[in-house]
Amino acid sequence: MSLTPVLTKRFGTDQPWKIANYERLDGYAGLRKALTMPADDVIALVKDSNLRGRGGAGFPTGMKWQFIPQPKKGEPVKPHYVVVNADESEPGTCRDLPLMMNDPHSMIEGIIIACYATRAEHAFIYIRGEALHAIRRVTAAVAEAEAAGYIGTNILGSGFSCRVTVHGGAGAYICGEETALLDSLEGRRGQPRLKPPFPATNGLYDAPTVVNNAGSLASVPYIVLGGADWFKKIVANTDTPWTRSWIQDNGQDKAPAPDGSPGPCIYSLSGRVKNPGQYEAPMGTTLRELIDLAGGMSRGKDIKFWTPGGSSTPMLSAAHLDVPLDFDWATKAGTMNGTSALMIFDEDDCVVRATLKWSEFYRHESCGKCTPCREGTYWYVGIYERLESGEGTEEDLATLLDLSDNILGRSFCALGDGATSPVSSSIQLFRDEYVRHFAEGGCPFPGVRAMAGVSH
Ligand code: SF4
Repeated sequence: MSLTPVLTKRFGTDQPWKIANYERLDGYAGLRKALTMPADDVIALVKDSNLRGRGGAGFPTGMKWQFIPQPKKGEPVKPHYVVVNADESEPGTCRDLPLMMNDPHSMIEGIIIACYATRAEHAFIYIRGEALHAIRRVTAAVAEAEAAGYIGTNILGSGFSCRVTVHGGAGAYICGEETALLDSLEGRRGQPRLKPPFPATNGLYDAPTVVNNAGSLASVPYIVLGGADWFKKIVANTDTPWTRSWIQDNGQDKAPAPDGSPGPCIYSLSGRVKNPGQYEAPMGTTLRELIDLAGGMSRGKDIKFWTPGGSSTPMLSAAHLDVPLDFDWATKAGTMNGTSALMIFDEDDCVVRATLKWSEFYRHESCGKCTPCREGTYWYVGIYERLESGEGTEEDLATLLDLSDNILGRSFCALGDGATSPVSSSIQLFRDEYVRHFAEGGCPFPGVRAMAGVSH
């Protein structure tokens, strides 16, 4: 397939993180244009582009901006904030960090446009604490933008003013949840808030707040420059054997709109591919095409299971290689597009062991606020350790599914729901492999046995 990089077009050029190099390649042209438009027109443009949030949920970005209540004439003006979620902690996800390291100004330009559109006076960029390199890079880029007059008072003579603050988190996965992130920004322990009220009305410091993912905001300058129609045309060909068969079973009228989930996307591939890394392609590209871009499978083995958007998205199998990876088609396949972080496993990898590792992660990262997630993830790990060592039983599988039923939809935030995804989907797709573990008295995959130091 032929690719036309948009988000990554500056990657690999001479020091693309420097403002002078950024400006040479259309940098801050989108902001200049946006500042000549009425703020409501900028919101309408982003809404019309169908840009969906790249953080995982796929919520329309323009709609989020529109939810920010604007004061009527004579009413007191409450401060508005833009908060950038650059916490990127989902297992397997590595997209915002390369973006911030290579091209921080595209995100910063998008932030200032978002501030202008929503009438926000202050933006906060929340970056995961372990990513010190990104915190330093973005802090330096913000200082450059300020010195060039793109941040501060009366930006480019438009009369619009805003400030940008970079904030380092402390490495808690839960702070990727927007309300936990806001609590953390306010200096409290990061735990999700009860919703409603939503951040659009009661966000940071109880003021109207837009929380957007770093990748979503980096897309905004291109939309302002290229227009909504241009953006909506950036879609992959979704006519694949899998979609044809789905349409045959469900009817063409139920198929997603071709431009319902458009735009360029940075897919991050890890696991059993020859060249793991970031690949920019139009939304709707299939895993089969992405594996081609990544040079094929690394060990010459067939694919067995994979996650389309981090470990919180239900896993898929070799039967799903032709599912278009966008927010709409992924849902039709029984999963979610999530963060577009694809973890790929081949036929010699153990699905039970992989799920054990993910469950350990969720147990560790559960914030402890609600019982289903706090206790359920603890029980997951105990059962998986038994299963992986060959001491599990058929009853354990029933308990795992029962636990998942009690966590899914009954937890306070999406972390609990996400923890159930690998468990339920792996039992659904690979029940035989679970059974082999207790029928054969241990993991049937020699590589895994060797890694775990098991000799029998
Ligand atoms: Fe905390 Fe888990 Fe409950 Fe979310 S689901 S509030 S992470 S305990």
